[in-house]
Amino acid sequence: MKINIMTLFPEMCETVLSESIIGRAREKGLVEINCINIRDYTEDKHRRVDDAPYGGGMGMLMQTVPIANCYKAICEKSDNKNHLIYMSPCGKVLTQEKVKELSKMEEITILCGHYEGVDQRIIDSLVDEQISIGDYVLTGGELPALVLADSISRMLDGVLPNDEAKELESHYNGLLEYPQYTRPYEWNGMKVPDVLISGHHENVDKWRREQSLLMTQKHRPDMLETAELTDNDKKFLEKQKNS
Ligand code: SAM
Repeated sequence: MKINIMTLFPEMCETVLSESIIGRAREKGLVEINCINIRDYTEDKHRRVDDAPYGGGMGMLMQTVPIANCYKAICEKSDNKNHLIYMSPCGKVLTQEKVKELSKMEEITILCGHYEGVDQRIIDSLVDEQISIGDYVLTGGELPALVLADSISRMLDGVLPNDEAKELESHYNGLLEYPQYTRPYEWNGMKVPDVLISGHHENVDKWRREQSLLMTQKHRPDMLETAELTDNDKKFLEKQKNS
């Protein structure tokens, strides 16, 4: 899969995306991520990319021309159908379901806004969808774009050691993950639950499922309304409520 990030701060994105799991996935060619500087596409002799908003008001807006030129150049270089996502607090809040959906595309391009955002005509004419990473406002779209690129990349084949690694984690199956422990066995008077050192895999799986249900009930009860629950899950949760 190819992910293009259109930004005024490509180094900021490149630094993060060159490290750790995503950095290795890029080196192995499991995902291609290109960080493209929108400023390289300005037609202004002073390399300006922003201007004051019509009608007055605070701050500066990113102009249409550099963004449109940049996106045109990306599309011209590619044989794939592109899909332009504008990271914006006005978009739909990102979910694991959306991440799964986007990870099936061959190529996406992510537009990072800065300052007051981008001229509305870019959104109206080029953007396929707007995605927010939460109901708060950041100074720029680079961190949201990194969140999106990371969450998509880890869904791609070969990026994580196996499918289980992603399927067992929070949100993949509509529940939160169970608690996890590692050495030492005892720390500050707290021991690892006995079942995890029992070597009994069936019991470990049952315990993990129940803990996952409990974590979700405690921290995100809203998720239980849509999660796929077995009859055993429902009985277990009912028992917990009445205990
Ligand atoms: N004027 C915009 C508004 O009120 O909706 C906010 C602009 S914000 C200061 C600058 C840029 O940061 C946006 O264009 C967007 O790309 C990015 N951004 C800020 N908060 C975000 C969020 N919660 N999710 C995704 N992108 C965000």
